[in-house]
Amino acid sequence: MATSTHKRDYYEVLGVPKDATLDQIKKAYRKLALKNHPDRNKDDKVAEERFKEAAEAYAILSDSNKRAQYDQFGHSLGGSGFQGFQGFEENFRGFSDVFGDLFEDFFGTSQRRHGSASGIRGADLEYSVEMSLEDVAHGKEMKIEFPRAERCSTCQGSGAEPGTKKTTCPDCGGVGEVRSTQGFFTWRRTCPTCGGEGEQINKPCRECRGTGRTKQTRKLNIKIPAGIDDGSQLKITGEGEAGERGGSRGNLYVYVTVKPHPVFERSGNHLLLEVNVGIDGAALGTEIEVPTLNGKVRLKIPPGTQPGKVFRLKGKGIADLRGFGVGDQLVRVNVEIPEKLTNEERKVLEEFGRLHASQRKGKSLFGRWQNR
Ligand SMILES: [Zn+2]
Ligand SMILES: [Zn+2]
Repeated sequence: MATSTHKRDYYEVLGVPKDATLDQIKKAYRKLALKNHPDRNKDDKVAEERFKEAAEAYAILSDSNKRAQYDQFGHSLGGSGFQGFQGFEENFRGFSDVFGDLFEDFFGTSQRRHGSASGIRGADLEYSVEMSLEDVAHGKEMKIEFPRAERCSTCQGSGAEPGTKKTTCPDCGGVGEVRSTQGFFTWRRTCPTCGGEGEQINKPCRECRGTGRTKQTRKLNIKIPAGIDDGSQLKITGEGEAGERGGSRGNLYVYVTVKPHPVFERSGNHLLLEVNVGIDGAALGTEIEVPTLNGKVRLKIPPGTQPGKVFRLKGKGIADLRGFGVGDQLVRVNVEIPEKLTNEERKVLEEFGRLHASQRKGKSLFGRWQNR
């Protein structure tokens, strides 16, 4: 951060009055940014300084909170006051991101601005896949198919019918930019006739109708890693649409939805399962069969198991996405109380009640209500 003593006043930098409206500030900044933009002032240190200075002033004065702070404290806040700004001087190039909207206003779109030099990046694509919990546990390879813009093979992406030639754009004379005037100042923008290419197609390619690209079906094998969460997004670099004029491909984003499982609940990498055990099984102990994502396993229910008791099947959950082990399956025992009894069952239970009554009294805990 430059020392505050030599800093020019932000209003002075932009040449606007203290009570300037946001619109005035924006306009003033545009004018300065255009004039001093590094793309137009190659190796001109003074212009670069002016550009940075104007950008900094704009960043503060266009933000009502920062502007209010600045109006009150001036540059005396220094680094602490305007910390958001610090990355700027080191990372000058990143700045056009912050002001992307402004430059888009100016130049059509920021991509077209460099259209002929580096091409236009292809669009990103989205694809949705639905997975079962079993797939999540094991990971899944799948084949997907989707339509995607590819370079037209008939015209090699030029958009002109093979055998015909492109001619220089009459509106921009091949420069790819035209001058526009608004109010009192003039700027250059991408030529709307040729889209910045500087050339015009006389006979459009029949295959792609002059766009240079055609929709084709892309088949792709993708691998969804084990342990993925519902709602995750996978980025597959370079599998989006083809760029234009030598621009790079976009990316493919795969959105993963995990279907609810009829039996299991998922909690992070653990699986939750509830099983029913009869009162006899819970009291006497039993062995039951429980499902896991890898088939059924036997689970021992020891005598005297209480309702709500949770058993842990180690490593029967879901593998961690980042490789930190495997989750467990937690089995919660629900003790089923019979809702209807036959006469014989009632007799047995009544008999049991009589036999057990003394024990129940003996086990009574201080402060706990015990019936009978
Ligand atoms: Zn074509
Ligand atoms: Zn043109």
